[in-house]
Amino acid sequence: MNHTDKILYENLNKLNKEFEAEFQEKFNTFLTNGWYVLGNEVKTFEENFAQYCGAKYCVGVANGLDALQLGIVALDFPKQSEIIVPSNTYIATILAIINAGHIPVLVEPNLQTYNLDPHLVEEKITAKTKAIMVVHLYGQIAQMDKIVSLATKHKLEIIEDCAQAHGATLKEKKAGTFGTIGAFSFYPTKNLGALGDAGAIVTSNETLFEKLKALRNYGSEKKYYNKYTGLNSRLDEIQAAFLNVKLSALDKITSHKRKLAQIYNEKLTEKVIKPSEIKDSVHVYHIYNIRTEKRDELKQYLLDNNIFTEIHYPVSPNHQEGYQTYFSGLHFPISEEIHRTTLSLPISYATTVEEVEQVINKINCFFNN
Ligand SMILES: *Cc1c(COP(=O)(O)O)cnc(C)c1O
Repeated sequence: MNHTDKILYENLNKLNKEFEAEFQEKFNTFLTNGWYVLGNEVKTFEENFAQYCGAKYCVGVANGLDALQLGIVALDFPKQSEIIVPSNTYIATILAIINAGHIPVLVEPNLQTYNLDPHLVEEKITAKTKAIMVVHLYGQIAQMDKIVSLATKHKLEIIEDCAQAHGATLKEKKAGTFGTIGAFSFYPTKNLGALGDAGAIVTSNETLFEKLKALRNYGSEKKYYNKYTGLNSRLDEIQAAFLNVKLSALDKITSHKRKLAQIYNEKLTEKVIKPSEIKDSVHVYHIYNIRTEKRDELKQYLLDNNIFTEIHYPVSPNHQEGYQTYFSGLHFPISEEIHRTTLSLPISYATTVEEVEQVINKINCFFNN
């Protein structure tokens, strides 16, 4: 490698290169048809994606946040209900609860899996609790066996934030099918990424399916008749067309990422904490994170060597400036520990095995000096 070569964290141009001809063809047909919102491509994608997930239905929406929010709204909880959510999630999960008119109750994750710790959930359940919102963070399914039995015991709904877990499984069951509602994002950098914003909700409940189709379109089942208040959160036809192309490649994308993760797992120094895979689960590695006390130094050292990394996430939700009304004075030591020590390494579909070997060499060098 020439020392001016950069190893990027993500390279969307390169990632999407192999789909270019198919995208062009889809675009030409789209332009000829002149139908831009909620058309046949959307319908086809909804059918294909429901089938891929093993759910009965899918409703395409504008983005992941709306998928989460509409999922909550469709369940029609009393105003200001409490919804349990992991304290280390991406902010969207929490914002969706607030936007839907409810109260986010943060619960700490497990420090090995980074997912909601089922043992800490029960003590947070009150008479106002209506749902547990699980997040399959970084691409691994949460401990759903225990969470499902807790939800059943306390008559709570489960909503899954699957924005990082397209195709991830636990005992061969896919993300989005453990709860009543599974919400997905197809933001361009996600494992299944559109060429702009897009999202979807999967469910196997027919009543919710019908309601969600109305909710994304001004609460309307029949044009100009508004059964609910709803949102304008329709999925663009062109994004659905691109997603139909990408969905056929999703398993290939996942295999590539899993292969890179395996190399990291085998060759990275034991001086960093690597991700741990739970039993019977297929982790899809949206993110490959390591943890180290020397996170900031390591990130800078890698950057000096032209290797780009990310932090998911630098600030825990309870410390976000805009959220002090909700979380001021609350402390979440486990999430704060994660936010302080976590570093995400390149693991894109566009990242090569050679690049991963170079990242490993540099990290191992850093710890041996
Ligand atoms: C990306 C993401 C979202 C939000 O998706 P958008 O499409 O950007 O709105 C929600 N939750 C998690 C965990 C995410 O990673």
